[in-house]
Amino acid sequence: MLANANRKMIILTTLFFLTVGETAAAPEVKIINPSPYPGDIVIVDLMNPNTASGTFDGSPLKFFSYGKMMRSIFPIPVTKRAADYKLNVESYGSPPVEIVITVRPKIFPRLALGVPKKLETTPKGLVQKIVASKRGVESAFQRETPVWLATTGFGLPLAVNRLGSPFGEMRITGSQTIRHLGADFRGRTGTKVYAIGAGLASVAGFDEIYGNHVILDHGFGVFSFYLHLNQMLIKTGEFLKRGTPIGTIGETGYATGPHLHLTLKVKGVSVDPVRFVTLFR
Ligand SMILES: [Zn+2]
Repeated sequence: MLANANRKMIILTTLFFLTVGETAAAPEVKIINPSPYPGDIVIVDLMNPNTASGTFDGSPLKFFSYGKMMRSIFPIPVTKRAADYKLNVESYGSPPVEIVITVRPKIFPRLALGVPKKLETTPKGLVQKIVASKRGVESAFQRETPVWLATTGFGLPLAVNRLGSPFGEMRITGSQTIRHLGADFRGRTGTKVYAIGAGLASVAGFDEIYGNHVILDHGFGVFSFYLHLNQMLIKTGEFLKRGTPIGTIGETGYATGPHLHLTLKVKGVSVDPVRFVTLFR
């Protein structure tokens, strides 16, 4: 009887170690937001600090060192269809891991919005101006600084954050429909606007649609973009800590009243800035 029991123990012990051995070989992957909405981000953290690579829906992912982990962030475009998509992660010397990312459906609000008189244009002309302005800043968002600069994380841009128009809202302007690809925060002219994370001021300029604007490069294709500022408190090329005042709320450019419009870009794709700040830890 005793010999039998011992044999059982040995078998159990062997099984136990086999299981542990297999777990140690596979990369330990943690997904933040595995069931995203369109306009969200998904974060992939690899706990073992090996080299990491992967793909989401066939597109390659880039990883960067984040504390003791390797991290990758990828955007879910606002137009992404609700469905299951494949995420593949590989780490040097480990078997690949396949994870299902389920994009959930989301209905975005609609709002009728006129063209501000100062722009002296029609709804069609407004769309053309927006397209031209987008083209003007496109190259700034294509850059991919190979260093993670926002090492102290992210926060919201105002001392008191009251959301006006949300990300993704469809604005019906005459015969045109314009999607709002940022979040608007309410506030009086002159209210200070703070850097949501540490980064490099890659652009501080003026544009007919964006008004006085600032683009902060946080590294690895992540940018925050502040529009319609009244005063500008920083210059292009400055490195800013999280919470540095960058300007004040205004209504310069395509704005029907004073507010802060914040855009968040991840690898050239606009995502919901409020969800980004909430999800990024
Ligand atoms: Zn806006």
